[in-house]
Amino acid sequence: MRISERIQRVPPSGIRKFFELAEERDDVISLGVGEPDFSAPWAARDAAISSLERGKTSYTANRGMRALREEIARHCKARYDLDYSADEEIIVTTGVSEGIDVALRALVNPGDRIAMVDPSYVSYRPGVLLADGEPLPVRTREEEEFRLTREALARAGASEADLLILCYPNNPTGAVMREEDLEPVAEFCREHDLQVLSDEIYADLTYSGEHTSIATLDGMCDRTIVFNGFSKAYAMTGLRLGYALGPLEGIAAMNRIHQYSMLSAPTTAQHAATEALRSCEDDVEEMVGAFNRRRRFVLSRFEEMGLDCFEAKGAFYVFPEVPGDDEAFAEGLLEEQGVAVVPGSVFGEAGEGHLRVSYASGLPRLKEAMNRIEAFVR
Ligand code: PLP
Repeated sequence: MRISERIQRVPPSGIRKFFELAEERDDVISLGVGEPDFSAPWAARDAAISSLERGKTSYTANRGMRALREEIARHCKARYDLDYSADEEIIVTTGVSEGIDVALRALVNPGDRIAMVDPSYVSYRPGVLLADGEPLPVRTREEEEFRLTREALARAGASEADLLILCYPNNPTGAVMREEDLEPVAEFCREHDLQVLSDEIYADLTYSGEHTSIATLDGMCDRTIVFNGFSKAYAMTGLRLGYALGPLEGIAAMNRIHQYSMLSAPTTAQHAATEALRSCEDDVEEMVGAFNRRRRFVLSRFEEMGLDCFEAKGAFYVFPEVPGDDEAFAEGLLEEQGVAVVPGSVFGEAGEGHLRVSYASGLPRLKEAMNRIEAFVR
């Protein structure tokens, strides 16, 4: 079969390759996956069940159910001070994954340079390639707690870029950006006329202060599309639901693709998500508390082992430094001790020499996994 040249530029996922290795054994503890070990809150599940019982199995409006968009508008205003109209500035997507893909296809012209934080989530680069853009990694450094700085943007040549993809709290490092860290980045974007795609899917999972969205800074709202969703904070990965907030013309352009490629996001999931926003704040708080306890445990264990580990303050990952080649280390750890983690280099060159360790597993499993990692390190 003849395959497009565009597809041939997209490498297979480095994470998948690793999981296939892990699946060959049944004694493996996986700290590799990026999803909560919890189930979605009961109220959200009940809403999904009830919607099916009531026969709500049709398409919804392309942009998503009005009731859900209203809840999203209310939630984002109350929680992040993001002010968007449910009518024209919000679109409900099949996960943040679809939102980012559609935004890239809607905003990128062939050859456009798309700056992105390095290391960051594995889908951005392929998404840019599929939109015929040119990825431009912007290295962040452990010494700067993996925050994006003006200097890093300038060093990478991002003044020539058309778009910047931000991911804070960050996957894979767990880094967060406070308002004072975002200001110089926003200034750079205004000076060089960069638009921003800000993936804030981990916004609720922060452990030292509240999340700030770059879209709330001066002059940024008109040049930013914010992404968030239900996969992480509401433990709803399998329901596939996310949303994007942005200027009317950006959201309309995204909808132009979404209405043909997806029609509408899954209806049952939209009912669950509406209820999640209405009544599940306590459940989220409880999960965040559990993640925080696990985060502290994992950080303290790495310290005891003598592996340098920057203090991740968001998401559910830590990013310890390991001696030598990270891929060889992760393969050895899997082979000898049956613990699966993801080599940092999968997330970009700046991730080399690190591992992404997810603490979205219960404490007993984490304890056993950390003992095994310690045995391997020794
Ligand atoms: N963005 C980031 C930073 C992620 O880590 C993930 C999943 O791991 C996604 C987006 C995908 O989210 P969704 O399940 O909403 O498609």
